[in-house]
Amino acid sequence: MSGVETETEWQSRFDSSLMRTMGMPLRLLVRGEGAYVWDDQGNRYLDFLAGIAVNSLGHAHPVFVEAVARQAATLAHVSNYFSTPPQLELAERLKRITGAGPVGRAYFCNSGAEANEAAFKLARLNSSPTRSTIVALNNAFHGRTMGSLALTGKPAMREPFEPMPGGVVHIDTTIEALEATIDDSISALFVEPIKGEAGVLELPEGYLKRARELTEQHGVLLILDEIQTGVGRTGAWFSYMNSGVVPDAVTVAKGMAGGFPIGSLVTFGWASDLFSRGQHGSTFGGNPLATATANAVLGEIESAGLIENAARRGEQLRAVIAGLESPLVADIRGQGLLIGVGLSEPVAGRLSDAALANGLIINAPNDSSLRIAPPLIIGDDEVREFGLRLRLAFDAVEGS
Ligand SMILES: *Cc1c(COP(=O)(O)O)cnc(C)c1O
Repeated sequence: MSGVETETEWQSRFDSSLMRTMGMPLRLLVRGEGAYVWDDQGNRYLDFLAGIAVNSLGHAHPVFVEAVARQAATLAHVSNYFSTPPQLELAERLKRITGAGPVGRAYFCNSGAEANEAAFKLARLNSSPTRSTIVALNNAFHGRTMGSLALTGKPAMREPFEPMPGGVVHIDTTIEALEATIDDSISALFVEPIKGEAGVLELPEGYLKRARELTEQHGVLLILDEIQTGVGRTGAWFSYMNSGVVPDAVTVAKGMAGGFPIGSLVTFGWASDLFSRGQHGSTFGGNPLATATANAVLGEIESAGLIENAARRGEQLRAVIAGLESPLVADIRGQGLLIGVGLSEPVAGRLSDAALANGLIINAPNDSSLRIAPPLIIGDDEVREFGLRLRLAFDAVEGS
């Protein structure tokens, strides 16, 4: 099953009818259960990408299935002219788990990019004639819509779509660059606490703490994009909790409802008073189907101890990767179950292809990094199987 020489029927259908925005998909998947998915040929794969950190509870988890089915049969959508019990519950839950507390507020939308669009508008509301610039980081990823793309620090992604919404500058991720840039002319600083799409790159030691000091001193919003790092993945509800920093706003999406589309902007303190009625909205955002599913998934993460599991299994996976003793492994990055493997040679694509051929789904965000982001439910069996399949993939690439 390695190497696709001739185009299959589904590939030609894909090529004929899907917009050419992404490359050809790797497989046609038909079913999932726990940490496993199956393709149309009946091959089973250990899914250690989880839909890019989305399937927090794995596939077809009974809590997820029951929540979707029950809410769909009760009340799926009502528009923003009405509220619903799951929406109220999720807003209160997010205030609690983010630490935004009593003065916090949640805005609901349907994706990560939309959460960052809301955060972009929040930043604009902290503007004045003398304060208008938004600062974001080179190499950070914030989404593909125009506002979130303007924040994204990858010029090659932005250039075909210029002109971008204005007033955004990108700086290097160093404390020196922060100190040279943050002043009273800045409205917001956007930070991706671990750069997932860039290969799971962590911030320099002390970065968030210094960012918090400088932004507080100058009235600048500190906005953290926790879309990939949030909801338990890093071994804490949110990765900023690992550094003891409290932001002004956080964006959440991916793992929040275990595969049901949802996003949120959560504000803390004075940031909660910036939006006024009528300034933003989304037809689908915060509907009872999405919010009930998020409540069920977040409730299960909490009651099943999956945050502790993410920390513990993350350590085990790190030991497995180190135990390969491969000359190709240069470093192991990330926190909890968001793991990056830095490679000594640009073979990430070949390694992820070899893993797939050996029944393991991992990802190559660039030529020299692997990204591993399994569901938070993994146990001893999945860790052991990961080790066996990863060994086969490394053997295939090292031996060629
Ligand atoms: C995935 C991601 C986004 C975009 O989320 P979408 O749901 O794809 O729009 C934004 N920021 C980060 C850090 C992400 O990982």
